[in-house]
Amino acid sequence: MPAPAPPAPPAPLRTSSSADSDWRLRAACTGLAPQTVFARRPKAALPALRACAVCSVRRPCLDTVAPADNLFDGVSGGSLWRNGRRVAVPEALAAALEPQEQP
Ligand code: SF4
Repeated sequence: MPAPAPPAPPAPLRTSSSADSDWRLRAACTGLAPQTVFARRPKAALPALRACAVCSVRRPCLDTVAPADNLFDGVSGGSLWRNGRRVAVPEALAAALEPQEQP
């Protein structure tokens, strides 16, 4: 039996009112693979967490996803969540979240 398809990323794919979806157009994680946006482990979530670090819509993302209320698994509002609880990023990986210098 094939593995179930990963869920769609919350930011770019959900359609709703224009006021609600406006922030989604500014989501820094747009285009990232669902496997990173909905990762359960910090290492796999790093690309999405790195996007969060520069994302201007962290608050509406967090308010909309409501991770704790929805037992969310994945990245929202600058944090990784598993079963609706914030997952700590190990120090060894946290350095990878620092903004990258452009050459
Ligand atoms: S806060 Fe993070 S998960 Fe939410 S839209 Fe921005 S980059 Fe994506």
